[in-house]
Amino acid sequence: EIGRGRHTSTQSVALPLASGGWVIDTPGIRSFGLAHIEPDDVVLAFSDLAEAIDDCPRGCGHMGPPADPECALDELTGPAADRVGAARRLLAAMREG
Ligand SMILES: [Zn+2]
Repeated sequence: EIGRGRHTSTQSVALPLASGGWVIDTPGIRSFGLAHIEPDDVVLAFSDLAEAIDDCPRGCGHMGPPADPECALDELTGPAADRVGAARRLLAAMREG
């Protein structure tokens, strides 16, 4: 009933991933809410970033300056720093709702 689209197919497919987790195709559902996801949940999904946020101040939104000037993700370098950009794009999209 949530975000139901125009497609008439009702068959959903769930495929388990060898590394853990699932890929789920749900025809007819065009969007789903992320309101219950916290910024920490997003960053923890990036295995190379998860440890870094132990050094963030409590309540850090992990967006970097100016919103989160003490975010520990800004200390990362190399490929991990590129992944910080990806994580922050997700966080920004969540904030836009
Ligand atoms: Zn942070």
